Amino acid sequence: MKEIRVRFAPSPTGYLHVGGLRTALYNFLFARKNNGKFILRIEDTDRNRFVEGAVENLINSLKWCGLNYDEGPDVGGNFGPYMQSQRIELYKKYAEELINKGHAYYCFCKPERLQALREEQEKQKLPQVKYDKHCLNLSKEEIQRNLNDNKPFVIRLNVIPNQKIIFNDIIRGTVEFDSNNIDDQILIKSDGYPTYHMANVVDDHFMEISHVIRGEEWLSSTPKHILLYEFFNWEKPKFAHLPLLLNPDRSKLSKRQGDVAVEDYRAKGYLQQALVNFVALLGWNAGDDQEFYYMNELIEKFSLERVNKAGAVFDLQKLNWLNAEH
Ligand code: GLU
Ligand code: ZN
Repeated sequence: MKEIRVRFAPSPTGYLHVGGLRTALYNFLFARKNNGKFILRIEDTDRNRFVEGAVENLINSLKWCGLNYDEGPDVGGNFGPYMQSQRIELYKKYAEELINKGHAYYCFCKPERLQALREEQEKQKLPQVKYDKHCLNLSKEEIQRNLNDNKPFVIRLNVIPNQKIIFNDIIRGTVEFDSNNIDDQILIKSDGYPTYHMANVVDDHFMEISHVIRGEEWLSSTPKHILLYEFFNWEKPKFAHLPLLLNPDRSKLSKRQGDVAVEDYRAKGYLQQALVNFVALLGWNAGDDQEFYYMNELIEKFSLERVNKAGAVFDLQKLNWLNAEH
């Protein structure tokens, strides 16, 4: 059987959110249960959102919770997490490969043109604003001239209209999207950095990720990723999208409920095993009536098949109870 390889792929935008901790934990438990590898990949290609110290913060919070990653590039005798910002050439190379295959194209449109297009489509009350594929029709000569003139460009995915994109999600079952609802995504931005979609798929492929386990908010990105896998002719990983975390009133989890940063719980003196146990049970259960599990028990009992589809309510009282009892 193929080795199980999973990853936690946070963007370094601040601190580790409890939702992020749950994603990391489920990946970790799944890897340990299956004698696989747990990889940490920092998705730091959005230079505007980069926060100083965020990477160290993330790693410290993960370590405090006992979630150690298994591999990464050598940094002074130790291994660090993979950093996407160190892999820019790889993404460029594969974006160019897509261009050569006709699955992506250079777009030289100026912001004013895109703005006018957006306004026009909004006026027509179209369900979604989409790029009009204008630059798909540029001749080879025109493209070369623009490149020689150093005109700014992005690289876009060439989505084929009128197609069904269907995939199986371990938690949600069969999921279907219509390619007409998918914009010609930007893959490489004008600053040369890749977008999330491009870097995520290239890395999941080259890091030989077998299972992509991530929050439900990424479900609508998955059809775009499926298109990329198909255009590259790469084997797809299996997907599992975890249920949303909710406030007790079933709105999306926010600070109203209490702290959302792992480091805040740590600072307040919460026990790491209480927090880990609590987070493990946000959307998963072992099918027995045990109230508290040590990490080795979580590993032994964990399975993706027992993750719920429905949103999981973050109940601070339960965390406080666990914390007082253990
Ligand atoms: N960088 C994304 C995040 O911040 C990764 C999502 C994924 O796992 O694909 O959560
Ligand atoms: Zn264009």
